[in-house]
Amino acid sequence: MLGQMMQQPLLISAQIAHAARYHGDGEIVSVDTEGGLHRTRWSEIERRSRRLASALTGLGLKQSDRVATLAWNNRRHLEVYFGVSGAGLVCHTINPRLFPEQLVYIFNHAHDRVLFIDKTFLPLIAAIRDKLEHLEHVVLLGGKDDEAAAKVEGLQFYEDLIEAGDETYAWPEFDENTASSLCYTSGTTGNPKGALYSHRSTVLHSMAVALPDSLGLSARDCILPVVPMFHVNAWGIPYAAAMVGARLVLPGPGLDGDSLKNLINDEKVTLAAGVPTLWKGLIDSLKKAGEKVPTLTRTVIGGSACPPSMIATFRDEYGVDTLHAWGMTETSPVGSVSTLLHKHLALSADEQAAVRAKQGRPPFGVDLRIADADGNELPRDGDTQGDLYARGHWVIDAYFNVDTPAPHVEGWFPTGDVATLDENGIVTIKDRSKDIIKSGGEWISSVELENLAMGMEGIADAAIIAARHEKWDERPLLIAVKEEGQDPSEQEILDAYQGQVASWQIPDAVVFVDQLPRNATGKVLKRTLREEYDGYLLKK
Ligand code: AMP
Repeated sequence: MLGQMMQQPLLISAQIAHAARYHGDGEIVSVDTEGGLHRTRWSEIERRSRRLASALTGLGLKQSDRVATLAWNNRRHLEVYFGVSGAGLVCHTINPRLFPEQLVYIFNHAHDRVLFIDKTFLPLIAAIRDKLEHLEHVVLLGGKDDEAAAKVEGLQFYEDLIEAGDETYAWPEFDENTASSLCYTSGTTGNPKGALYSHRSTVLHSMAVALPDSLGLSARDCILPVVPMFHVNAWGIPYAAAMVGARLVLPGPGLDGDSLKNLINDEKVTLAAGVPTLWKGLIDSLKKAGEKVPTLTRTVIGGSACPPSMIATFRDEYGVDTLHAWGMTETSPVGSVSTLLHKHLALSADEQAAVRAKQGRPPFGVDLRIADADGNELPRDGDTQGDLYARGHWVIDAYFNVDTPAPHVEGWFPTGDVATLDENGIVTIKDRSKDIIKSGGEWISSVELENLAMGMEGIADAAIIAARHEKWDERPLLIAVKEEGQDPSEQEILDAYQGQVASWQIPDAVVFVDQLPRNATGKVLKRTLREEYDGYLLKK
């Protein structure tokens, strides 16, 4: 016997329709690419995204055609998110920090037919336009602009499209498993691979993101997604914000500490989300100005391990709770978020901080496990390390448009991370499996050593790599960037590790550099560091 409840497909258009109907006067604040703040409302975003959907249909696009974006976090990008997916097309957000060859590969692989672009990125596209095989329309996210039109032949203007769109367009209904958006992994090796999300996976992911033990989003929040909308859909925040009717502040191109500080304080932001390097900029700016962020109650930090020292600074100096989250492009991205359990409430502040510094627990909808090299499940004892696998409603089944079979092992997606899980499934990420240091049969976590270095006086940035060693095969080598105006010595840094990790885990040496190489999503390029410093200890 079947249940007798209404059957409604889980569609992204329903999220924006809900925001318009129940939170229509809810404000969206957007820093425009040209500078200046623009204030709009959920009702207006919905109205314009419907017009956009109708205009795109008018361009002759068919269901599931790909529509690319190269854009900052701003109101028009938000309209594109809902207009494109709502129309049954696929919103393909592209990371503008990729190399031109990677951009060409991604555009052609995805068969993007339309591109919405912010003015900042016009030179990028002008240089590769003739290599983009399927691209028919390039649309500037703005009004008529002769200067921009001179840069890209046939450039069209977003405001013209909106003008031409039909105000009475109604959101179409279709299968919830229809593709909604596409995001390529940053690909530190080989070609980038596409994760093709569906309406269903996106809506379910939004619900999980909003849960109290995830980001805990509500209609009383004012959310600042600093994480780019081209980085795994800004972690799902645009969708979840529409669903709960939160106020949204979109920071545009200014992601430096001062701009973020001012935006948070001027707009009374309650929750901000981004990668650790961005928050370092904010903390530096706050320190310099001697200011606080009184309205900010929590930050979501993920994408790379968040150093515990940063969590402590936010908590002790600014009264801000950090939600440390783990995930990846292939998991939409939220796979786990660090919040306390009831039993943790009895712990001391320091013990609680240690729990929160981990990568947290999966929300309902994601299942995690660790396994050995043969795929045998390993114990959830908080101690045993293994390859981390994920499965769930918003975990990819296969990469987009590739011949190679899905990398799954018995229905589980191998994340490529090495982790421990405890009895509650609390994850501690030790490393990317290719980055872990295998020293004489023992594994050393680079993440742990990096976190400690980041908390040391005089260090601004740090990466640990495996350097070749005559006796132990590999030993940890610390590559560090000094804090401006400070000059810690190698010995001082190595001494500072004493008592914090087992003595055999302490790095063998420190190399000082001016800055660390990073990929398009801000992750340290360890491969590049290894190419340069792999033989450092052998020569020493
Ligand atoms: P991407 O798909 O580019 O977002 O990269 C996903 C990878 O980033 C994961 O597989 C992890 O290696 C890393 N990552 C993401 N969040 C965290 C975190 N909180 N701690 C440690 N590593 C993380």
